[in-house]
Amino acid sequence: MSSISLAEARSIAAQVQSLIDSGALQDAEILAHRELARALGEPRAVLLHVHSVALTVTGHLVEALRAAAAALEAFRKAESRSGELDALLAIGSVMRAAGDHDAAIQTLEDAEEIARELDDTVRVGRVLRTVGICCSILGRHQQALSSLSEAAALHAGQPDYRDHLATSLSLYNAHGRHAASLPVDSPERFESLDRHLERWTELACDAARAGMTRTELMALGNHAITLHDVGRHREGLEALAALLPRYREHAMAPNEAICHFEMGRAHESLAEHGWARFHYSEAIERFERAGASGELRDALYGLANVEEAMGDHRAALTALRRVRAIEAELGEAAAHGTASQRELRIELARLSSQWHRLASIDPLTGLANRRALEQWFTETQPRIDRGDALMVLLHDLDNFKSINDRFGHDVGDEVLRQVAQLILVNCRPLDLAVRYGGEEFLLAMLSIDHQSAVDVAERLRASVESHRWSAIAPDLVVTISVGIAGIGETGDTRFLLTLADRRLYAAKHGGRNRVVATN
Ligand code: GH3
Ligand code: MG
Ligand code: MG
Repeated sequence: MSSISLAEARSIAAQVQSLIDSGALQDAEILAHRELARALGEPRAVLLHVHSVALTVTGHLVEALRAAAAALEAFRKAESRSGELDALLAIGSVMRAAGDHDAAIQTLEDAEEIARELDDTVRVGRVLRTVGICCSILGRHQQALSSLSEAAALHAGQPDYRDHLATSLSLYNAHGRHAASLPVDSPERFESLDRHLERWTELACDAARAGMTRTELMALGNHAITLHDVGRHREGLEALAALLPRYREHAMAPNEAICHFEMGRAHESLAEHGWARFHYSEAIERFERAGASGELRDALYGLANVEEAMGDHRAALTALRRVRAIEAELGEAAAHGTASQRELRIELARLSSQWHRLASIDPLTGLANRRALEQWFTETQPRIDRGDALMVLLHDLDNFKSINDRFGHDVGDEVLRQVAQLILVNCRPLDLAVRYGGEEFLLAMLSIDHQSAVDVAERLRASVESHRWSAIAPDLVVTISVGIAGIGETGDTRFLLTLADRRLYAAKHGGRNRVVATN
């Protein structure tokens, strides 16, 4: 079985995404999962990412988190910053779906930093959208509206319409939540809701035209609920009744449950208690199955009112008792998270300590990578500012290409691992050994004078030359060239590396297997 190319992986991911958009969730998940078996490297990361998206929408959150974390690791190995950002965004979305909005916002901060650094308008918008949704649900309405408005502005002019529609949906929702938080008879509340009636139908039409069935159905649901909220109960009810089979058809279980709940509310407002009882009961059963405690409480409360109105005091009391039990549970959850949120948080903590560690390590040699070097320079800057010495030794394997050609890539890899070990042996705890490039290594040393650094380099050069390479392959010979530079010569870490590189080049020109420390 041949493995998938990056272009193929992207095209499969686009197919999975449009299956998700059209509401064919099962098919989306199956396709992503099936193709994963054939993918390696960055193509695999692309598929892991879209698989995570599919798992999130179908509610398999722990698996979704694992897939997103694996995607993150694979994108980092492939040095794809935009992929890394997508994976962080997927992790944020899992936490959001789990109702852990604070954890989501925290992850999204990292994602936003990368998106801004890449100057990637669409992705900055996606991050802001997800942050906005979280803030809105947490009741931070102003912050939510400001993030979502910025996201909407960024997505408005984009050729791909999907982001624009998804962001509009979230923005209107945030307006709706804000309006709902205002006093029931305030004119501001009514105006805001009334204004959005038209927006919801427009959005539903646009989404239908773009084949985004889920977005269309969500917009129609919000339209129906808004009709009810502005007092047009009968119209709202009819619209909800028409939506119910469509939610069922597209496996949108949470929306189906909410639809029953809203139908219960509408019937209650119209004093149709028998029907209200029926729909509240249907909603209760579904919320219970989904473990949606807040919604379950509201539906039970509605049921209690209806039972009371129908004169069944005993049934009303039973419902109210359950309301109280759930409120106690919710108080506990507010303090410590629900059981499933706790499970996800533990998993997130475990994975994130792993990926923070992995993010700074070169997988082949176990040395630090360039990212870790940047960090190390930032951390040691205060020492350098105080006048501490810093020397860098830049090593490059000689004629390494021909080692690969003659002995094979696996032998080449083993040589890299063993050279890395020889460098580590020459390190002090203060120093940092880095795999700087394919067959280039860098040793950064603090508090060391020029001559001592040259001595270290010379010792290292000699130990590579005299290492028993024949244990790997008979006739294998390995040598290194080294360029050295000190902060005293440049005053700046950037020029320090340039200078070391120039001297390394001189060592190569001078015949290789040597150390150059001066111009
Ligand atoms: P020079 O002495 O001038 O440095 O010659 P060179 O052949 O070492 O330099 P060149 O830059 O031409 O080739 C470096 C080679 O290192 C090419 C590349 O295939 C190989 N390489 C880079 N990364 C890896 C790796 O991870 N594993 C293996 N086996 N080879 C690698
Ligand atoms: Mg090189
Ligand atoms: Mg080389």
